[in-house]
Amino acid sequence: MRFDIATLFPEAVDSWLDSSVIGRARAAGLFTAECHNIRDYTLDKHRRVDDTPYSERQGMLMQCEPIYRCWQGICNMTRSQPHVIYMSPQGRTLTEKRCIELSRLPHIMLLCGHYEGVDQRVLDRIVDEEISVGDYVLTGGELPALVLIDSVVRLLDGVLAQPDCYEDESHYSGLLEYPQFTRPEVWQGEAVPPVLLSGHHANILKWRHEQALLATVRKRPELLEDYPLTKEDLSIITNGVGNFDNKKD
Ligand code: SAM
Repeated sequence: MRFDIATLFPEAVDSWLDSSVIGRARAAGLFTAECHNIRDYTLDKHRRVDDTPYSERQGMLMQCEPIYRCWQGICNMTRSQPHVIYMSPQGRTLTEKRCIELSRLPHIMLLCGHYEGVDQRVLDRIVDEEISVGDYVLTGGELPALVLIDSVVRLLDGVLAQPDCYEDESHYSGLLEYPQFTRPEVWQGEAVPPVLLSGHHANILKWRHEQALLATVRKRPELLEDYPLTKEDLSIITNGVGNFDNKKD
C-alpha cells in the first residue's frame, strides 16, 4: 500500500512516519509513504501558495494551482490515480470501519490543508472524499493525515504481531474492548478476575465477550445501535446493567 501526502510541512509528517511501530513497518517495506511539499509546485517566484479569500474573510486560503500540480506530479511519478482524501473538519468522521476499507486500497493521496483551508475549485477537481478526525478545527491537516495513516497501517499484514492484536480491540467488531489486567495478581487489595487465572480458554472467551458488551453499554451505548445483539447478549446486558433499550429513536 502506498500513501502520498501533500503538505506544507513534510518534515513534521516524515518524522512521525519514521517513529515507533509505523516507522518499523515503513522501514520493513510493509507500506510506502512519501511526503510532497506543495510549495515545490508553485509557479510563484516568491514560492507563495496562498492568497486572501474573495469572501472578505480574514486569513489566507491555499491556492488551486500548486495543489493541482502536486497531484499531477504524484500521478505521473507513480503512474497511478490515487484515491484522493482531503483531511477536513467538514468530512465524514473517520471510523474503524472506514479504516478497514481504506486498508484495502492500493494507493491513497492525503491532502493537508492549512490557514483558512483550500480554494474549493481544486477540491472539486481532484478530491474523492473528505475525512475529518472529529468535530473540532485544527490548524492544519497534518495531524489528521497521520491519524489516518496510523489507524490504517496497523491493519496491514505484518505490522502488528497477529490479527487478533487489532481484531479484539475497541471498535473492530463494533464493541469496545473488555478490561485488561497484568501482573501482579493482586494490586492494593484489587484482584484480577479469577476466570482469567483459570486457564479455561472457553470461559475466558465468554468472559471477554460479556465484558466487551458491558463496557460498550456503559461507556458508548449508541455503538450498540449498529451491533447485531443476540438474545444472550441482551440478557448479559440486563443482568449486568439493568434494563437496556437499544431501539433507535
Ligand atoms: N476554514 C475551514 C472550515 O471552517 O471548514 C477550516 C480550516 S482549518 C483551520 C485548516 C486545515 O486543517 C483544513 O484545511 C484541514 O486540512 C485541517 N483540519 C482542521 N480540522 C480538521 C479536522 N477536524 N479533521 C481533518 N482535518 C482538519
